[in-house]
Amino acid sequence: MSIPLLDLKQQYSSIQDELLPQLAEMCASQQFILGPKVEELEAKIAAYCGGAFGIGVSSGSDALQIALMAEQIGPGDEVITTAYTFFATAGAVCRYGATPVFVDIDPATFNIDVNQIEAKITPKTKAIIPVHLYGQSADIDAVMAIARKHNLVVIEDACQAIGAEYQGKRVASIGDYGCLSFFPSKNLGCFGDGGMVICNDPAKAEKLRILRNHGMAPQYHHHLIGSNFRLDALQALVLLVKLPHLDDWASGRQKNAADYNELFAGVENLTVPAVAPYASRHVFNQYIVRIGAGKRDAVWNGLKEMGIGSAVYYPIPLHLQECFKELGYKQGDFPESERAANETLALPIFPELTMSQKEQVAEAVKSLLKK
Ligand SMILES: *Cc1c(COP(=O)(O)O)cnc(C)c1O
Repeated sequence: MSIPLLDLKQQYSSIQDELLPQLAEMCASQQFILGPKVEELEAKIAAYCGGAFGIGVSSGSDALQIALMAEQIGPGDEVITTAYTFFATAGAVCRYGATPVFVDIDPATFNIDVNQIEAKITPKTKAIIPVHLYGQSADIDAVMAIARKHNLVVIEDACQAIGAEYQGKRVASIGDYGCLSFFPSKNLGCFGDGGMVICNDPAKAEKLRILRNHGMAPQYHHHLIGSNFRLDALQALVLLVKLPHLDDWASGRQKNAADYNELFAGVENLTVPAVAPYASRHVFNQYIVRIGAGKRDAVWNGLKEMGIGSAVYYPIPLHLQECFKELGYKQGDFPESERAANETLALPIFPELTMSQKEQVAEAVKSLLKK
């Protein structure tokens, strides 16, 4: 039996009866832009993350973008972030002309190595974007301490980590801005693209709200240059139906991770994900194993042949991407990011996975490792 990396159909069938009548009602109303459902979602997600304000936006990428816009970070400015993340983290920095400055990762957690941040700070540095990769908090208090000392803004990329905690505090509400994505494969996914910025400062929240709607307040009066970064009411409705289930789904992911950890105990050339002592709640958007001895690609291909979904997040670290060639980085600059790109493999972790599916995945990986 084949096993997909992610199966969203089961989740959908569990909420369909609740959702469809409400969708029909919204279609009948023909009210799709912002409005009460978006506001309700903003309040609920902000509360869920332990933050004061939520500003619904069109994607996680746009959440990062609009936070940078609110701080007027552009040409001549530098933003420090990790070399090992999804492209959007650094792409947002470049979009209005600022320069990403990369830092290597801590090999145990795959998150930014906080011990290497300070050496990268220059008079041009304006912000730090730590990423809570795979659903685990980065060492955010350490990042905050460095940022406060050097007067830098912190924008948390929590796109993979809604509900994750750092020493009991929810991510996305710890930095100056916290960015969430509702892309379908995230722990809380909508039916297309969506995102949110969480922040605690009322003036920043107001600025974000104005920027996401063309910098307009009141209507047709523009004192800021914004754009269309709005979240659809239809997506907000889907997310409002899903949100009450999010903790159960996170528990399902944690259970799956614990089961895999047991199934993989003692297996040679395979390292299960480490949970950092400060990461008091890892929500496992991905379950990432590290496969050594140069065997990762063989396991990856072997699983594909057996009909078992797996993926590499991410095969090329950002400093080696073609589009960032002009930044002048080279092979060898960030050895841990480069090693992670060669060794990591994501296995199916979605909450509805059964015990026999987990056993099947683990057996397949073990048999491929013995080859
Ligand atoms: C998904 C993701 C984003 C971008 O979110 P979108 O909603 O797809 O634009 C940014 N950063 C990280 C780490 C992500 O995983």
